[in-house]
Amino acid sequence: MPAVLDDVSAEILDLKKQLGATILAHYYQDGEVQALADITGDSLKLAREATKVDSPVIVFCGVLFMAETAKMLNPSKTVLLPDLAAGCSLVDACPADKLERYQEKLRINGRKFQTVCYINSSAKVKALSDWVVTSGNAEDIVRNKVPAGYEILFVPDKHLGRYLQEVTGREMILWDGSCMVHEVFSVGDLLKMRRRHPGAKTIAHPECPQNILELSDFVGGTEAMLKYLGGFGRPTEFLVATEPNMLWQFQRRFPQHTYLPVPGITCACNNCPHMARNTLEKIRDCMVNREPEIRWQPEFDRAKDVLARSLLNPPATAPVQPAGD
Ligand code: SF4
Repeated sequence: MPAVLDDVSAEILDLKKQLGATILAHYYQDGEVQALADITGDSLKLAREATKVDSPVIVFCGVLFMAETAKMLNPSKTVLLPDLAAGCSLVDACPADKLERYQEKLRINGRKFQTVCYINSSAKVKALSDWVVTSGNAEDIVRNKVPAGYEILFVPDKHLGRYLQEVTGREMILWDGSCMVHEVFSVGDLLKMRRRHPGAKTIAHPECPQNILELSDFVGGTEAMLKYLGGFGRPTEFLVATEPNMLWQFQRRFPQHTYLPVPGITCACNNCPHMARNTLEKIRDCMVNREPEIRWQPEFDRAKDVLARSLLNPPATAPVQPAGD
């Protein structure tokens, strides 16, 4: 929390008391938003923490699929999202009707498969799936929950899917989706940075393409990255290929290290434009108006069961890596 609060931040904290609200913020939110939150985390941590919140109102500072997940796991609570237009390029890459037609085609062709969807998907896609994974539990689900003898249709992130194929050895049919942020890190710039900082460690999120992961010393989601950094006692330089707001959280927890963001192909910053929609003003306004609110949709009925059995049961084995977005 900053020592001196600006007016809007002070208003938000007042409103929080009045409403009895809990503020959850994703690690990809601006530092000023994360500083106001009661809980910060990646998708998996926030989904799990949302089930433990005892206040009647959750203000979710993240994107739509995350707020929907919080609602599905907390049907009786009011879940507010500061900007309903905060979407995700992975969600957009996999429309439910297209997935349903593809699944039907596989069945007609006699393929025996289960559908595993990344949490970055719509509620309708979750309802069409057998499992929902985050980068934190994906390896466990693929290794231990999808029965042997079944192919895996993995949607929508082809990079995470390819990475999971590599670490688990399971054959997958990969959907052609990607994250607009992690897709565009510049390999050329990363190579230049590695030359300029020969002692630095490169860490990358598994949503990045293979050419970035191959150059990395560590691949893992956000929670796994934090754990990895915690293992370095001496000040170390890190080249970081993930959403740059994550650096705020790194700096807060491990200020002894230096973090250098890997730039994107087209511009120096790779901020997620969807996460950036949640400004302090919009957070205040959604608490004043109690809108936009995530309301129950018919597809939530089935999606919530898939979510609960995928995310809330403890993993059979501790997730190794990754653990993230
Ligand atoms: S960073 Fe990528 S995966 Fe995460 S919300 Fe933004 S577009 Fe979606």
